[in-house]
Amino acid sequence: MSGFSYKDIYIEDGKRVLEVNILPEKYCNFDCIFCPIGRSYNKVDTLQSFDKMDESFRELESIIEKHKAELVFINSKGESLLNDKICDVIELVKRKRVPVRLLSNGYLLGKDEYIEVANMCDEVIGEIKTISEKDFQKIQRPIIGYTLEEYISNMILFNKQYKGKFILEVTIIKEYNDNEESINKIKSIIYELSPDKVIVERMNDEKFKQKFDKISKTLLNF
Ligand code: SF4
Repeated sequence: MSGFSYKDIYIEDGKRVLEVNILPEKYCNFDCIFCPIGRSYNKVDTLQSFDKMDESFRELESIIEKHKAELVFINSKGESLLNDKICDVIELVKRKRVPVRLLSNGYLLGKDEYIEVANMCDEVIGEIKTISEKDFQKIQRPIIGYTLEEYISNMILFNKQYKGKFILEVTIIKEYNDNEESINKIKSIIYELSPDKVIVERMNDEKFKQKFDKISKTLLNF
């Protein structure tokens, strides 16, 4: 068995999207309390080596061909940039003349070695989930020494030099970043970051939907 896993291919904007997880288990530099994958027992921000990569590459190549993928979306169990073979993954996909989208929480986009990798991708998604230092530490539980200020500035500096499409995913969390002051802060970050596209998400909570819809409209008109 290879170390990669896949979602069923789906259509987005008329393109066949292949979503691939390139981590055998969760590796992340954050340990968010709401993480759908669970706790970060491997909370790291250095490159990691994994077994069976040759097998994983062969499998990826054959799945791209078999399903005629038109976009490969690297969306892993954690931070994909931590796989030390991610460049080879991107190169393999590009050799097939298929564009690559990468999801990152965005913190590592401030380190040279990861900037180079992200620059190889056609699209990069970065994220904002908290808007105060206290909440960042409390609910995203990053590696010691990380700060929200550095997080945002890493993404801003990355996007200043990035030639591809930068997508910012903002998650609105009830009672953390849904008040007027937070929304205004998010707006100013969006303005400074200047992404090509903004996606506004919310934590699953039906009662919160109405307020979320209003916030979402405000942010999408940035
Ligand atoms: S950044 Fe994403 S993958 Fe990492 S702990 Fe937070 S929610 Fe989970």
